Amino acid sequence: MTLTVLNPATEEPIAELEQAGAEEADAAVARAKAAFPAWRAVAPGDRARLLRRLATLVEEHGEELAQIESRNVGKPISGARGEVGMVAQVFHFYAGAVDKHHGETIPVAGGVAATFREPLGVVGLIVPWNFPLNISSWKLGPALACGNTVVLKPAELTPLSAIRLSELCLEAGIPEGVVNVLAGKGSVVGQRLIEHPDVAKIGFTGSTEVGRLVMQGAAGTIKRVTLELGGKSANVIFEDADLEQAAASAPYAVFDNAGQDCCARSRILVHRSVYNRFLDLLVEATRGVKVGDPGDEFTEMGPLISAAHRETVASFLDDSVQVAFRGDAPGGPGYWFPCTLVEAANEDRIAREEVFGPVAAVIPFEDEADAIRIANDTPYGLSGSIWTRDGARALRVVRAVEAGVLSVNANTSVRVQTPFGGFKQSGFGRELGMHGLDGYSEVKSVFISTEG
Ligand code: NAD
Repeated sequence: MTLTVLNPATEEPIAELEQAGAEEADAAVARAKAAFPAWRAVAPGDRARLLRRLATLVEEHGEELAQIESRNVGKPISGARGEVGMVAQVFHFYAGAVDKHHGETIPVAGGVAATFREPLGVVGLIVPWNFPLNISSWKLGPALACGNTVVLKPAELTPLSAIRLSELCLEAGIPEGVVNVLAGKGSVVGQRLIEHPDVAKIGFTGSTEVGRLVMQGAAGTIKRVTLELGGKSANVIFEDADLEQAAASAPYAVFDNAGQDCCARSRILVHRSVYNRFLDLLVEATRGVKVGDPGDEFTEMGPLISAAHRETVASFLDDSVQVAFRGDAPGGPGYWFPCTLVEAANEDRIAREEVFGPVAAVIPFEDEADAIRIANDTPYGLSGSIWTRDGARALRVVRAVEAGVLSVNANTSVRVQTPFGGFKQSGFGRELGMHGLDGYSEVKSVFISTEG
C-alpha cells in the first residue's frame, strides 16, 4: 500500500512511499536481532566514533534535513534549523557518554560485587509527528550508545526525516541492520512492535491515549517501556514577576510549533492583582506572532499538521468559550489556525484537555497556595514555568508542582544534558542527559567469591 505524504502548508503531496505492514515489521525486527551480537561487541571507543561521525553528518546535511522537516511538518524554517542543530548535539552527547555510563564495585562480604550495564537487545522506538527528527534522536542516541539495535517507527504523517536519518546512519558506518526505519501505521506496525517477542523495549512518545495501549500491549511480554505523553502545563505569573518579560515570552511557550508541543504552557495562571495588566501585555505580544509561509526566514508559526487535527483544535472553541484574542492566519490552502487566547476557569474543558494547537487559557489565581493547587489540578505533569523575583518562593513552588521539567523566569524545557520526562499521566522514564541511558540498559549484578 502507498503512503502519500503531504505538506501541511500547501496540502500538496511531497512524497509517495511504500507503506510497511506487520510483515515488514517482523522482517525489520529479524534484521535488528541478527545485527545485535556484533553491535553490542563493538568496542566502546569505536561505537563513540560512529556516533560522532553521525553527528557530523547531521551537521553537514543540516540544511537538507531542516528543509525536509519544515516541508513535512509545516515548521518555520528557522525553528527547523534549530531542531536539527539539537539532533547533532544529541549524537555528540551520546558519543561522549558511551564509556561514561558504567558499573560499580560494591563492598560485600566474601568477595567482590560488581554491576554491569547491559544492552537490552532490539528496541522499538515509536515517535509522533510534532518533532519527528528531534524525538527520534533522543531515543536513537542513548539506544545506540548502550549497544542496542533499533526499529524506529515515525508517525505516518511525517516519516521523511527519519528515513533520511537512517541513510546517514549507514553513511556514518553504523552497520546494516542496526538502525531500521519503517513508515507505517501505528495500529499495524507500532502494535506489532509492542507485541513482538523479540523486541525488548518500547521507547514511546505520543498521546496519553496511545500510551495506555503501549502499556497494555507490553504487558504480554513484560517489555520495558518509556512513555513520554501529553501535557497541560502551567505558566505561573506571580504579582512580583517581570511582567513585560513574562508576557513577551509566553506566546513562544504555547504557540511555538503551532501549539503542537507536549511542553506547551497552555494554561497561563496569573495573580489576580496583575491579571488585567498581564492580559493586555499578553494580547499585544501575541498580536506580534508572525504566522505564514514556513519557508520564510521570519515566520514564527506555521500551519497545523492536518485537516483532521485542525477540526479537533477548532472543536475546543465553541460558544461557551470567552475569547480574549484571535490573531490572523492565512485562508488556505494549508491547515491554518490563528493564535487564540481565552479567559477560562481551570474546570473548563479548554483548561483540562490537551488542545495541541495555538490556544492558551488564561486563568486567575488568588495566592501562592491557590497557584499550586490549580497547577496540580490536572491529570498531566510534564513541564511548566514559574515567574517571580522571590527566590524562596520560586523554590517552594517548583518543589510543590507535580511536573517533570520546570523553569523559573524562563519557558524552556529541553536541553541535551538534562533529564526530560513526565509525572502522572504525562508518562514515566527520562530521556536526554545521562538519565536517558538508564532506559536503554539493564543493570546486572555479579558476585565474585574471593574465598578459597
Ligand atoms: P499519537 O499517540 O497519535 O501517535 C504517536 C505515535 O504512535 C505515532 O508514530 C503513531 O503512528 C503511533 N501509534 C498510534 N497508534 C498506535 C497503536 N495503537 N500502537 C502503536 N503505536 C501507535 O500521537 P501524535 O498525535 O503523533 O502526537 C501528539 C501527542 O504526542 C500529544 O499528546 C503530545 O503531547 C505527545 N507528545 C509528547 C511528548 C513528550 O515528550 N512527552 C513529545 C511530543 C509529543
